[in-house]
Amino acid sequence: MAKVVKFGGSSLADANQFRKVAEIIRSDKERRYVVPSAPGKRFSDDTKVTDMLYKCYDEVCAGANAVASFLPIAERYNGIISDLGLTISLDSEFEEITENFTRRAGRDYAASRGEYLNGIILANYLGFNFVDAAKGIFFKPNGEFDAELTDATLASILEGYDCAVIPGFYGANPDGSIRTFSRGGSDFTGSVVAKAIGAEMYENWTDVPGFAVADPRIVKDPEFIDVITYRELRELSYMGATVLHQDAIFPVRNAKIPINIKNTNDPAAKGTMIVPEAPDGKNEHIITGIAGKKNFSAVAIEKDEMNGEIGFLRRILTLMDVEKINFEHIPTGIDTMTLIIDSDDLKAHPNFVERVKEVSNPNHIEIEEHLALIAVVGRGMKATKGTATRIFAALSHANINIKMIDQGSSELNIIIGIREEDFDEAIRVIYNMFMLQE
Ligand code: ASP
Repeated sequence: MAKVVKFGGSSLADANQFRKVAEIIRSDKERRYVVPSAPGKRFSDDTKVTDMLYKCYDEVCAGANAVASFLPIAERYNGIISDLGLTISLDSEFEEITENFTRRAGRDYAASRGEYLNGIILANYLGFNFVDAAKGIFFKPNGEFDAELTDATLASILEGYDCAVIPGFYGANPDGSIRTFSRGGSDFTGSVVAKAIGAEMYENWTDVPGFAVADPRIVKDPEFIDVITYRELRELSYMGATVLHQDAIFPVRNAKIPINIKNTNDPAAKGTMIVPEAPDGKNEHIITGIAGKKNFSAVAIEKDEMNGEIGFLRRILTLMDVEKINFEHIPTGIDTMTLIIDSDDLKAHPNFVERVKEVSNPNHIEIEEHLALIAVVGRGMKATKGTATRIFAALSHANINIKMIDQGSSELNIIIGIREEDFDEAIRVIYNMFMLQE
């Protein structure tokens, strides 16, 4: 049996954090495959190594000397090596990297070196094998992640090792060049490795106690979620809950491997368990979590007798397809239809409203900006009556106007649209309604 353990940047920010990580790994023999991030912030004003690498590469592209510009990064790694009392030297790696920067090996290559170098140090410190992610994680020619090739290759490589460190965040393009996932992508690497080895568990170690029911920057000292299903998490992370990269659930979800979010600074705490299905389908509270996003616009289209006009929606959707605009929701009335769209997307298509007029010939069309969406998510809703009523009551008492409501038939979540300025207060009153009054 084996567990895959991924450690985030703050868990590996300095030698002291490395020691905690090694203790965690050594305390459980099943923790055999380790995925590290690059060193993160040691204090709030500190800079993550990944950001230092992007900056360094940009400087080199603008004409700076690579060795000089790379020096602060080399110093961070050398500091960790000497504080841990290790005898390895990364000088030849630094030399190769700065040469590659000078010959413009690419921003993705540059950023990936954070995980690559940290992986070498961690493998050395733990006495594990180092497996370069470029040898086992692949992208297709169109830039998409190649799940099949990766799974087969990684599985056969890792079969050969009892214990290994595989750096997060990057893999290789078909031509061998390096490509990274989006920011925070080491979470995805951990999931891919867990799938490839058929892990019993994917532990994702970070610097918080798990998933909070609501954003702690908005709700003071929120409760943390003990158990959440993949589907609930998907809803919450799409809507802005950021503890785990939003794509990280996909590789393990099909294989039904649970993910345990754990805190490196408090290893005994249970953390949040992400599971295929909740054991008894229940939860202590009706709702599992609340998350939301700002920066949406509503394009409201009104047309007499829209309800009888066959093909109206199709024409609008075809237009969105052609213009490559994503919609979040389409609430409809009898003669009205509203498109809820990311405001940046709308700004990037300044002719969109004109084009809608062309294809649909409406009586009236209007844009409202500065909307926010809030998702109230919970598997407990299905078995409970009155959830929507309580959400609306909480908002109404707080004098918050609801602009849009959407509840899917899965009864897993209720999404409401409100004005951006009401965002924080809306989350607080919904939290209080469900978490403090049950
Ligand atoms: N180091 C990368 C980042 O800062 C990837 C990761 O930490 O997961 O985004």
